[in-house]
Amino acid sequence: MRFEFTSSESQSVLRAVFEDGDSYEGSRQEGASQTITYSGEDITFDYPVRSIHPDLLGLLCLIVFYPFIGHRAVFPEPVSPRLEQAFQNRNFRQRIRFDNVDPDIEVYSGSRMALSFGGGIDSSAIRTMFPDAYVVHEAHIKEGRLVPSHAHRIVHDLGLARGRVVTSNQRYVSKPGGWHGWTCATAAALLMATDNDFGMILVGATLANTLLANGSIYWNRFRAREHHGFTGNFWQSAFNAVGIPMFSPVCGASEYSTMRLSLELVKAGNVVYCMERDGRPCFKCSKCFRRDMIRAVVDPDHRPNWKPYDRVGIHAFLSARPLYYGHIFSYARDRVEDLPSFIASRIKDVPAIKSDWPVRVHDRTFEFCDPGWSSAIRERVLEHLEPMEPDHVAELESWDQRGQAPRRAGPRTRLLNLKARAGARLRGRRRSGREQDAGH
Ligand SMILES: [Zn+2]
Repeated sequence: MRFEFTSSESQSVLRAVFEDGDSYEGSRQEGASQTITYSGEDITFDYPVRSIHPDLLGLLCLIVFYPFIGHRAVFPEPVSPRLEQAFQNRNFRQRIRFDNVDPDIEVYSGSRMALSFGGGIDSSAIRTMFPDAYVVHEAHIKEGRLVPSHAHRIVHDLGLARGRVVTSNQRYVSKPGGWHGWTCATAAALLMATDNDFGMILVGATLANTLLANGSIYWNRFRAREHHGFTGNFWQSAFNAVGIPMFSPVCGASEYSTMRLSLELVKAGNVVYCMERDGRPCFKCSKCFRRDMIRAVVDPDHRPNWKPYDRVGIHAFLSARPLYYGHIFSYARDRVEDLPSFIASRIKDVPAIKSDWPVRVHDRTFEFCDPGWSSAIRERVLEHLEPMEPDHVAELESWDQRGQAPRRAGPRTRLLNLKARAGARLRGRRRSGREQDAGH
């Protein structure tokens, strides 16, 4: 695949020229590796780039087009061997040959922090702790129209000195739509980095994404560093390799912490966590449901209306095992008063959490951050969050939904459960931690 990049007065355009071996069909980098089809459209950003370091541009090409690249990549400008080396990590599914590499390219560096801001609870928590980080939000074009989001106003109101909305069609150029990988959320920040002296991209991924395999079982990311580079994730390590580290300051904390940190913004209506109703929360989906559960724990004044959730979709969601973000529901189950029985009866078998690790931060997760930034970021986070003590960490490490007693079920359900468990085991093995970072 050959890449072309142009920048005019009003926008920047990234084009992929397909060659033999490239494919318009690829697989999503997250979840069940769904097949996606690229429309062939150029990728546009309404940010006119003045300058961009060749490695950052190369990384941007790889982030956006990775699922469709065949054997080789030719970048708009030669990239450094550092980028090439990072993509030799065996966790990348394809072996891509880099055809224009220049060993003399100096390593990129920048001095400011940028926040890839999605507008939800997690990135809002980071905004609270790091008001000095430049806020970058990507607004999405889908089939020629701007996808509404409450986040646009939030970022516009900051003014260009503190934040910027960058509109792009990146998220919906493939079908089914949606970012094909969690790193796609950083594209606009990468694009702006050189012009704006960004040296660190902050993202909002929590404990569920780094150490808990979406709440199903503890996943030892510390050990995974042997195969992923020291960040514990091969994509994240590629950012480090080219001098623009990316890190989530809340990767050692659960959504209870991010909710508490963003509570004032939530109350002021400045947090978006579901956009199902014209860019606003629907108060019906599983995401809205989880947020209501979390807020019921951390905000004594919050009395959720559970009634809209008493529906088939939520019942099925609560009955599935492993329960998605099960640690969140377990902690809430034993702390929220008067949970209606349609909820409580469906999650009573999920393991209990005795200590308060879900409201603290795992101190060692700052080891996943670039050494040049980790102590400053750690210090800032610990001004806001209590670190876990050894007994908290021990209980976190014991989190495992697999040991649950089978639910009372008929023979057919039992068979389905068995199949689901076998499938989960296989998927877990295949993934070997590859897709732990589901992003925000
Ligand atoms: Zn919703």
